[in-house]
Amino acid sequence: MIFLFAALSVLLCSVHSYPIEGLLEKNDEYYGNTVEDDDFSVSTLIEKANVNVGKNLSEPLVMFGDIAMPTGLQNADPCTARGCLWPKSSDGNVYVPFRISNQYSQRERETITQGLQSFAESTCIRFTPFNRQRDFVDIRSLSGCYSFVGRRGRGQTVSLSRQGCVFRSIIQHELLHALGFNHEQTRSDRDQHVRILLENVIPGMEHNFRKIQTINLGTPYDYNSVMHYGRFAFSSNREPTIVPIPDPNVAIGRAQQMSPTDILRVNRLYNCNSSASRNDIQPVQQNQFL
Ligand SMILES: [Zn+2]
Repeated sequence: MIFLFAALSVLLCSVHSYPIEGLLEKNDEYYGNTVEDDDFSVSTLIEKANVNVGKNLSEPLVMFGDIAMPTGLQNADPCTARGCLWPKSSDGNVYVPFRISNQYSQRERETITQGLQSFAESTCIRFTPFNRQRDFVDIRSLSGCYSFVGRRGRGQTVSLSRQGCVFRSIIQHELLHALGFNHEQTRSDRDQHVRILLENVIPGMEHNFRKIQTINLGTPYDYNSVMHYGRFAFSSNREPTIVPIPDPNVAIGRAQQMSPTDILRVNRLYNCNSSASRNDIQPVQQNQFL
């Protein structure tokens, strides 16, 4: 499977080197969502950074674009009902220990730390420096951007490659996986909100669009979620793979950071409540607490 994935990664790489000429006109109809605009969508950044994922046999198998699988082929089913949530402290906060590899520059460390701290501004998640806790997220620069879904136990790798993954949107995206969230377009109710055009998907990459029986926490489908892929994710031919319905021109997958719905979901999944200890939050940020 690893070898298969390596082969597919090479394929993915070749897709990004397609000539641009003559292919633009068709996509211009998608306002704010052309192939070129999409260059900065979370999924495009992740796709680009992940061209080498799967080549290193010491790294985990990665599926669904950037989700590490614990063993072989299996669905990234929601595990949050089975105990993969991070534990809640008696003060109402959820402390998630983290360790950042010394591979990063000072500036990269700051970007990552700011990404981690952004969760404290609007949720009860508190990423705290590793201090010999049993379970923790181990942030390292491996061959792409990827994470397991939910708490796996012991040190779990969150890979943020120095080549293309140290951005606020991707840091939040990968840590939302580690907190238990899947991609927005795999939601159980996605067919009411997007059409998946499998005919435009790179052969062998269809699994990235498989639906998951997600727990949606009473929150609406959100095109602006930082967990939503862009319109051209895994496209084999520069035609869209995800088209919103009913209005096909709505921008999707363009989030630069967590949306209000992403924040609401974290707070609902972890049952954050406004009476939790928030001494470390500035008053202006408390207003954003959902
Ligand atoms: Zn992802």
